[in-house]
Amino acid sequence: MSFKNLFVSVLCAAFFLAAHGACRGASPTSPNATDLAVLTAKSPTGQAVGSPVPTATPGSPAVVPFAGLPEEVQSYLLATNIKSPRAGLSGGVTRFNKTDQGKRIPILLYAEGFPPDQVEKAVAVLGNDLFEIVSSSTTADVVADLDSSKVPDRGCSTVSQDVDIASHVIVKAVIHVSPDRSGCPRAGEDALAIALAHELGHAVGLFGDIAHTRPGEDFMAIAGRKLLLSPMLAAAIGWLYSAPPGWTTQLY
Ligand SMILES: [Zn+2]
Repeated sequence: MSFKNLFVSVLCAAFFLAAHGACRGASPTSPNATDLAVLTAKSPTGQAVGSPVPTATPGSPAVVPFAGLPEEVQSYLLATNIKSPRAGLSGGVTRFNKTDQGKRIPILLYAEGFPPDQVEKAVAVLGNDLFEIVSSSTTADVVADLDSSKVPDRGCSTVSQDVDIASHVIVKAVIHVSPDRSGCPRAGEDALAIALAHELGHAVGLFGDIAHTRPGEDFMAIAGRKLLLSPMLAAAIGWLYSAPPGWTTQLY
């Protein structure tokens, strides 16, 4: 079976203002609008709107019904994932889908050139045993590096993803962090851990600038990011990784 993967380009390049990061789109064109046009052109199945066929991942049913989530979390999940243009025309939960015999297994992260403690801190803050750090890029689901040349001008970090639109599954993500560019956070104050955690947040399915939270709130904050998982983010990521890919509110 051949997957028609769609490379969803740069989601977010972090442009740092003063000492703290404010991440916004890399292009003057709205990234969402651009991606929507690409999705329209390449959506492989012509799947009818509202009829994705989610197959519940064995062993990982939605722990909390969507309707049982706080309203703020519901709105955040709808905007950043379920109804994001990156979730395809019909929408639906779009995420990594790592399972083995019904048991969820971690997303494999290879981070090249980062101090190990910064990678460990970034992974730890995402919580919920979502990631496992591996020592090779070959089998990694997410690859991160410190290659400034891959980060758009004036940006500090960026992420791109390979999404199988038909099954609503993220199959690969690539993160670049530019630690040495003027205005970008410097190593030594968990800056690399915060930048990596931020892009990992986008990578796992908190798509686009709309995923940015209030200043100072957590690692997804629009400015003043902290190495902190807010209750809202914890609920959103936790729910996302307990719901089957393709799930939409229209089915319930
Ligand atoms: Zn961002």
